[in-house]
Amino acid sequence: MMFDTILRGGHVIDLAARHNGLLDVGVLNGKIAAVAPSLAASQAKNIIDVSGKLVLPGMIDTHGHIYEHVTGKFGLNADMVGVQSGVTTVVDQGGPSCMTLPGFRAFIATPSKTRVLCFISAYLVGGLEGHYYPELYGPGQVNVAHTARTAKENPDIVRGIKAHAEIGGASRWGLDVIKLGKKIAVETGLPLYIHLGQLWPEKEGTHIDPDELVRELVPLMDEGDVLAHPFTRHPGGFISTETGNVHPIVWAALERGVTVDVGHGSHFSFDMAAQVMKAGIKPYTLGADMHGYNVKISHAGKDAAANPFFGVAPFNLTNAMSKLLYLGMSLPEVVATVTSNPAKMLGMTDQIGSLGIGFDADISVVELHQGAFELADNSGVKVTTNRMITPSFCLRAGEYIAATSPLIPPAMESLAA
Ligand SMILES: [Zn+2]
Repeated sequence: MMFDTILRGGHVIDLAARHNGLLDVGVLNGKIAAVAPSLAASQAKNIIDVSGKLVLPGMIDTHGHIYEHVTGKFGLNADMVGVQSGVTTVVDQGGPSCMTLPGFRAFIATPSKTRVLCFISAYLVGGLEGHYYPELYGPGQVNVAHTARTAKENPDIVRGIKAHAEIGGASRWGLDVIKLGKKIAVETGLPLYIHLGQLWPEKEGTHIDPDELVRELVPLMDEGDVLAHPFTRHPGGFISTETGNVHPIVWAALERGVTVDVGHGSHFSFDMAAQVMKAGIKPYTLGADMHGYNVKISHAGKDAAANPFFGVAPFNLTNAMSKLLYLGMSLPEVVATVTSNPAKMLGMTDQIGSLGIGFDADISVVELHQGAFELADNSGVKVTTNRMITPSFCLRAGEYIAATSPLIPPAMESLAA
């Protein structure tokens, strides 16, 4: 058999296909054509030596903000977050709405090299400027029928519904918006992705108990729905402020198949993550949650600093993977959070998340460095870790794209002496 490209001598980890070892990968006409211990060099036009590197099914970032220009400085360039960072699929969480999805398709999804999907915003306006104005996000600003219809008409792009459960919104409208978001999810048969942790200030003269909010919210969620930002440093995550332990109701939800997405962003707290994971909860999907207000290249200007999700600690998807390794997850478990598990979450296990023969050749090649590296969060915690993952390149439908994104935090810079 002839191949266009062979990735040679890498360590393949593919949970869905049960590969974890040294294997070659052959690509033909943009598709995966073979995964085998030794493909002959004479069989390929192009051989890429990936020895010493990890070869993964194209990584899937379940939480990005890439509706560039339309969401103001909040939206990053899709390919910078995606293929130029070694990530072949990026899911925009709540940027496009039923009113702005056609623009998302025409200006972002179609022209990007990255495979671009979204969880459509439950709100008519979508995620403009990173949700600055709470009055745009009330129950009167949701149209269930229009949003469900748009989702159903665009199944190649829309893979879920995005809404927020946090104390600022609850102080204004209770959980009415979430209930409408759930209606859209039920009507479309798509998962509901819920943001946890404070977003807006509480309405003047009100006080919402974050524990009570979690107790009311979680029973609304069903198998396949997603709780995001469990490790948030803002009030309203998985840890009860009353008891300091994981909410009992969270356990019940996980038992019925609700899943957990890290949604790293500026929210991520090492302390919260350590507590939640010590209790025995592991995230199912990762989600870097990069946007223009929490990455260095667009930190200029007061717009960014005024955003509730402003953050300065550098991160990206592979940096977040390194954090999960540091917190005690195994390498295959961490790989699953960016490959096989998100493919399930998206209902796309027949297309992505594995190096299946005949699948589009979406392949991420990353390096696992050994040494002493610093990892930081936005609550000021810094830790030293001995393993750091950085992207090397990816193939997207067989096309080679080097990991040259300015959004990749330099691993070596944080090398401790
Ligand atoms: Zn986000």
